[in-house]
Amino acid sequence: MDQYAVFGHPIAHSRSPEIHAWFAAQTHQDLEYRAILAPLDDFEGCARAFFAAGGCGANVTVPFKLDALVFCDQLSQRARLAGAVNTLWKDAQGQIHGDNTDGIGLVRDITQQLGVSLAGKKVLLLGAGGAARGAIEPLLKAGVRHLTIANRTLSKAQQLITLFHGVESPAGRQACSWEGLAGEQFDLVVNATSASLQGELPPLPEGLLGPQSMAYDMMYAAQPTPFMRWAQQQGATRVADGLGMLIEQAAEAFFLWRGVRPPTAEIRSLLRRQL
Ligand code: NDP
Repeated sequence: MDQYAVFGHPIAHSRSPEIHAWFAAQTHQDLEYRAILAPLDDFEGCARAFFAAGGCGANVTVPFKLDALVFCDQLSQRARLAGAVNTLWKDAQGQIHGDNTDGIGLVRDITQQLGVSLAGKKVLLLGAGGAARGAIEPLLKAGVRHLTIANRTLSKAQQLITLFHGVESPAGRQACSWEGLAGEQFDLVVNATSASLQGELPPLPEGLLGPQSMAYDMMYAAQPTPFMRWAQQQGATRVADGLGMLIEQAAEAFFLWRGVRPPTAEIRSLLRRQL
C-alpha cells in the first residue's frame, strides 16, 4: 500500500491522519497515512529514512517547515515564495519535491467553501511569520485590490512587502504598524499572528471592520478565538476560524500526490463536531 505521513514535533494532536484517511476512503485511493514524531535535531534523517523505505509523500508541520525546504531537490514557486514546505513527494527518478499548500488552502476556504470572492477586495493581513508569508502570493493571485500587512515588528512586514514585490498582480501593497491602521476599513482581515494561541489579541484600532467585512483567524478551536470575538464586537457578520484552511491545504496536498481532488464539506463538519 502507498505510504504517506505527517512529520512534526509534537505530532499526537495532528488531525492530518484522520483527514487523509477520510479523503482516501472517499476517493477510493489505496493508501496508508500515519503521524511521525521526528526528532527535533534530525528531521532530515527521519524524512530520508521514510522515503528510503518506500514512502511516497508527506506533510510537514511545526517546527520542520524550514528543514523541509532545505531537504527538497525541487521546489515549487509557491514554496520558494512562502519560504517553507508543508508537502513533500518523491518522483519516479527519486527526486524529492516540495510545495506549500497552506496559502492556497486559506484562499480556497474563503472563496469556495465560505463563498466570499476576493476579487477587488481590500485585505489586511495581520502577522509576518510563516503562515502570513505563505498566504501572500495566493491572496495577490486571487485578485485583491490592495493588501496591507501589519505586524507587531513592523520591519518584518516591510521585508515581506519587498520580498513579494516581483509577484505579478495589480494589487497595491503596504506594510503598517498597529497604530498606522487607524482610520482604515477593510473587506477582509486575516489574523495570521499566533496571538490567539496565547489567548491574546493584537492592539487593533476601532473601525477596521464594517458590517459587510469578513474576519478570518487562521487558528481554530472549539470556542471563538479572542480575534473572532473582537471581530463580532466590531460588527463583522462573517467571522471564520482556520479549520477550513487546515482541510483545504490537506486537500491540495492530496491532489498533488494522487491527482484526485477530494470532497471537503463533510470532513469539515465531522472535525468541527470533534473540536
Ligand atoms: P510564526 O511564529 O511564524 O509567526 C507568529 C506571528 O505572530 C509573528 O508575526 C508575530 O509577530 C506574531 N505574534 C505572536 N504573538 C503575538 C502577540 N501576542 N500579539 C501580536 N502579534 C503576535 O507563526 P505561524 O505563522 O506559523 O502561525 C501563525 C498562526 O497561524 C498560528 O495561530 C497557527 O496556528 C496558524 N496556522 C494555521 C494553519 C491552518 O491550517 N489553519 C496553518 C498554519 C498556521 P512578531 O514578528 O512581532 O514576533
